[in-house]
Amino acid sequence: MIYHLITTPECNLCCEYCCGKAFDEPESNIKFESVPQKPTYSMDELNSFLARDEDKPVSIIFYGGEPLLNIEFIKKVMDSQSKYKTVKNWLIQTNGILLDKLPKEYVNKFHTILVSIDGGKEITNKNRGEGTWEKVTSNLNLIKTSGFRGEIIARMAIEEPANFYEDIMELINPKETGKNMPQGFKFASIHWQLDANMWHDYKKRDFTKWSIKYNKDISKLADYWVMEIKKGNLLRLYPFIGIINSLLFEKKYYLRCGSGISNFTILPNGKISACPIMSGIKEHYLGDIKTAKPKLLPFKLNIKEPCISCEEFELCGGRCLYSNIRPVWPKKGVIEVCESVKHLIREMKRISPVVEKALKDGKIKKQELEFLKYNCAEIIP
Ligand code: SF4
Ligand code: SF4
Repeated sequence: MIYHLITTPECNLCCEYCCGKAFDEPESNIKFESVPQKPTYSMDELNSFLARDEDKPVSIIFYGGEPLLNIEFIKKVMDSQSKYKTVKNWLIQTNGILLDKLPKEYVNKFHTILVSIDGGKEITNKNRGEGTWEKVTSNLNLIKTSGFRGEIIARMAIEEPANFYEDIMELINPKETGKNMPQGFKFASIHWQLDANMWHDYKKRDFTKWSIKYNKDISKLADYWVMEIKKGNLLRLYPFIGIINSLLFEKKYYLRCGSGISNFTILPNGKISACPIMSGIKEHYLGDIKTAKPKLLPFKLNIKEPCISCEEFELCGGRCLYSNIRPVWPKKGVIEVCESVKHLIREMKRISPVVEKALKDGKIKKQELEFLKYNCAEIIP
């Protein structure tokens, strides 16, 4: 199993699509309880819970807010492994600002670091604040030179008016944009997630028009991706490798973020939820680390219609458990999001023979398409 550990609900940035919305559009129909600013459970309580997991050693994803605002807790959890042997893989999802504050002996233990970034300098600083892009890219270069050998995944949150294709290219190949943009850090792994049907903001947005352009950009990116594959360069674009893997190797794959199945979140008060976004929603808590049995947690919350009877359920898996059980967009918006998922799947079916041939010709290897399942890259944007 994979567990998100929320080290603190606090954040040190105020990004446009997150904090801006929280102030402008407070969620009205969901009751949130506040959770403590720091974990209140002990290392014994945490590790006894993890030791009861029959799949141990498990994987831990440090998460927030901004997880690095509580570096002492991260160190304490990692240090506790000299006594308990419950964790195999360490991951972190961070905005990257404080990565230079975590000593390298801890950083270098991470299997994966997911860094929130929106594209190049201009768009990232516009959304996250002046100087963010410079600090984050400099920290990533620093950890590489300090010996980090794991995977760094750029994790983008996408919504209008983002120029999806251009923003991705600024991360992987700025020359492709035709602009004279600095790259800062060369990303080889990228995941993106649509900010859609998460907040009751559909009427204020122009998702209808934007999603048409987004779908065209997905096709353009798919063409670029296969062009690179033919040259032997496999870019780890998670939505692409996730679906291609299913098409070529493993067909069935229920809810690809794994939330509520193999992926759970431990809140600072020790309560367990299916995913980080459900923090503070008491009615969706699945248990408490003091008493819960990990094997009894899965499938307490399940994907419902319209996904179960959807023709793409096997490949999409239901996209997002949270949006499925608490849809906040009207039906029209939900259909538009699903259209984007179906377009992505169609495009992957279109290019999968080329990927298959590249595998047969030895241009790329099957292992390059593999990944640690439920590593915070939800696969379906
Ligand atoms: S495409 Fe939409 S309806 Fe179909 S499984 Fe995915 S989220 Fe559900
Ligand atoms: S995709 Fe999965 S992890 Fe992401 S918000 Fe939805 S349920 Fe949670």
